Amino acid sequence: MINQLSRRSFVRRCSSMGLGVGAAALIGQAADESEKKQKTKSIRNFRETMAYREVGSTGINVSSFSMGTGQCSDEVLNAALDKGINLFHTCVKYSGGKSIETVARVIRGKTGKVHIALKDTFSSLEETLKVLGVGSIDFVMFNRHNADKFRKEIPDIKKRFLQWRDKGMVKYAGLTTHKQMGECIDVALETDFISCVMPSYSPSMVDDLKKQRDALRRKNISIIAMKTRGQLDDEQYPSQVQTVLSDPVVCTVTKGVKTIDDLKSWSSAAANARSGFLNRYLNSEALAYSGCGLCGKCEEACPENIPVADYIRCIRYYVDSEKTPDIARETFDELHLQSAAAGCTDCGACSRACPQRIAVRAEVRRTLHYFGSTVAA
Ligand code: SF4
Ligand code: SF4
Repeated sequence: MINQLSRRSFVRRCSSMGLGVGAAALIGQAADESEKKQKTKSIRNFRETMAYREVGSTGINVSSFSMGTGQCSDEVLNAALDKGINLFHTCVKYSGGKSIETVARVIRGKTGKVHIALKDTFSSLEETLKVLGVGSIDFVMFNRHNADKFRKEIPDIKKRFLQWRDKGMVKYAGLTTHKQMGECIDVALETDFISCVMPSYSPSMVDDLKKQRDALRRKNISIIAMKTRGQLDDEQYPSQVQTVLSDPVVCTVTKGVKTIDDLKSWSSAAANARSGFLNRYLNSEALAYSGCGLCGKCEEACPENIPVADYIRCIRYYVDSEKTPDIARETFDELHLQSAAAGCTDCGACSRACPQRIAVRAEVRRTLHYFGSTVAA
């Protein structure tokens, strides 16, 4: 849009100087090309076939499809670089530490091509940078799922971030959240140092996060959309990617990818997504209903404070949709889900609270059976 306007005024000016409209248009076109070249030069790993969007007001343009690295292979990450993808989201804990080593191996000698977003689940940022083989990262993502706790932590989080930034180890701060998402984003919006947020953001969540989405747009803070798939299959998912990217507040869809075919299909959908038509897409019932959006309402309704949404995340997202049973197992063990449902009274409040009409209680049972235990209640 900016290019078009400046070109139009340029053409007008040339016309008033006596140049023919045709000649002025040609010169204007050349000016556009040069401006575009300048801009694309500053984009890491730029490819004509990929689309890029700015992360809030950071000046960093990321590919509209980016790599989650919960389970990743050298082959897929190298192919991602070939496609012009330039953002990898990683964490020291994924796959027991193997994922971050894979990322480090792939980006060795190519660190100028990628931006790294790293979850703050490390014990030392210095050591993690050494593992990654980089001097600094672009985004440290504070991983928070309890809004009250997050709010109390803000002064400490800000202090740590500024210390890292002053030492040149990180450029920007973000929030990762998949529980109490609206409330956690509200806390992020109260701060003056968070540049992006990374919630679970499938179309079924857009209404729930409407207030936050509007506020994010006003503050020019971008959404990095994760867990966008819901329960859609491989063929349906490209449409979902385009639907999510039709929301202008979304700068990229971040997704773990297991095969080169999936990478081609999903990144190409992202590269061809058009921003600004969100509501039109959302009118499609089929797309708006895509299963669990990880809204957490089932968990909020549980009188026994059972982390119901974590069971759903394990079974429906990691096992059913993503086919990543190893990540499901890691999450199940890390959150002690084998024993966490022991207090369940079978009241059914979780199922009644689900806006997606999921039989939540039955899904908790299924999760426990899947991992080889039985419901304690
Ligand atoms: S059925 Fe169990 S898990 Fe669901 S709300 Fe009731 S106590 Fe909580
Ligand atoms: S099961 Fe339903 S209520 Fe629970 S997180 Fe998913 S969509 Fe929300």
